Amino acid sequence: MIRFVTMEKAGLAVAAMSDKTDGNCGDANARESFLERLDIRPEQLVRLRQVHGVRVLDADDVEPNAATPPEADGIITTRRNIALGIGVADCAPVLLYHPAPPAVAVLHAGREGTRHNIAAAGVRALCTIPEVQPAGLLALVGPCAGACCYEVSADMAADWTAAGLPTTGRHLDISGAICAQLEYAGVIRHNIRVVPHCTVCGGGFYSYRADKTSDRNLVVVML
Ligand SMILES: [Zn+2]
Repeated sequence: MIRFVTMEKAGLAVAAMSDKTDGNCGDANARESFLERLDIRPEQLVRLRQVHGVRVLDADDVEPNAATPPEADGIITTRRNIALGIGVADCAPVLLYHPAPPAVAVLHAGREGTRHNIAAAGVRALCTIPEVQPAGLLALVGPCAGACCYEVSADMAADWTAAGLPTTGRHLDISGAICAQLEYAGVIRHNIRVVPHCTVCGGGFYSYRADKTSDRNLVVVML
């Protein structure tokens, strides 16, 4: 696993992402052993059925460790004993942390979610909490498919460019797009970090593009 040290140093109790050495965390057994290494019980974990949309839920509205979680691609909480989890394999995990008052979000941002700006939806959802403001947020875009490897059809690239999102030829720049969206949503540039690791060519993580796998890396955050 990797720990997002800057987020943990800023005050998050847990900001971690499983890698191949932790096994496929789409599978309950691997997921539970990964959580155990983080000192989190399975019944503390709130997960979603991710559908590449922009819906963001409050963890209070999701049953922890549910067999059939609700459809959404982002979760927020102000509770300290609740862990938020999303599965990724090339899509970007986006962490948003508001130290004071404490609140946290984790988002699943792939091509579709980014195209429809789940980053801004996450910022908006957090800002429904009293005294939470975009300027107080720390953001992190985790390992995902880099522009080096995210080649799409000419039509798809054109659609992305028309939406004002960054491309290099037919290559999409997911993390670059998310950074711009976060900044536009009011997050201060200096408070946005990008982990410069491509999950397709960089190794270490399950990659849909590299391995054609349905195996998933799990990103977990907890206040
Ligand atoms: Zn790459």
